Amino acid sequence: MVNHEKVKEAVRLLLEGIGEDVNREGLVDTPDRIARMFDEIYGGMDEDAGEQLSKVFTVDNSEMVLEKDIVFYSMCEHHLMPFYGRAHVAYIPDGRVVGLSKLARTVEIYARRPQIQERMTGEIADAIMKHLAPKGVMVLLEAEHMCMTMRGIKKPGSKTVSSAARGIFENNEELQNRFYQMLSLR
Ligand code: ZN
Repeated sequence: MVNHEKVKEAVRLLLEGIGEDVNREGLVDTPDRIARMFDEIYGGMDEDAGEQLSKVFTVDNSEMVLEKDIVFYSMCEHHLMPFYGRAHVAYIPDGRVVGLSKLARTVEIYARRPQIQERMTGEIADAIMKHLAPKGVMVLLEAEHMCMTMRGIKKPGSKTVSSAARGIFENNEELQNRFYQMLSLR
């Protein structure tokens, strides 16, 4: 749970630190506003992906399921600046599937916390392997990082792409190619 008092105090210090007047009209409610906003953008820290992924349905087939273009917003833990983009999640069922919205919720749970993209990619894949126990999982994230586009090397529009393959996707070029093929169908 976000400690509102601590966050408010920290935001006041931060504003003072950059030389602002924390009592001027536009800033006076900012600490409280940020504390309440953090309930949402860091809300994933209190949530358990296992809960989302435990509602399963039995199926006979074991064809690849792909949920693509799941929009997510996260915060880079190195700069506390947003990174955001799309997640694509595929798995090959082993007799069980989950509701498609649960895959999106799983992405959201790992996005709503201080993150790095590479770890988030692996965490989504590992959570699905652990709780749904499919034959394999493939996750691909493409995101723009504000800490790269607004400062530093300033490359607007550049995307960071990361992937994680688990189970039968690992070291299986044919299966991974099928994933990329399905992804390119628009
Ligand atoms: Zn960063």
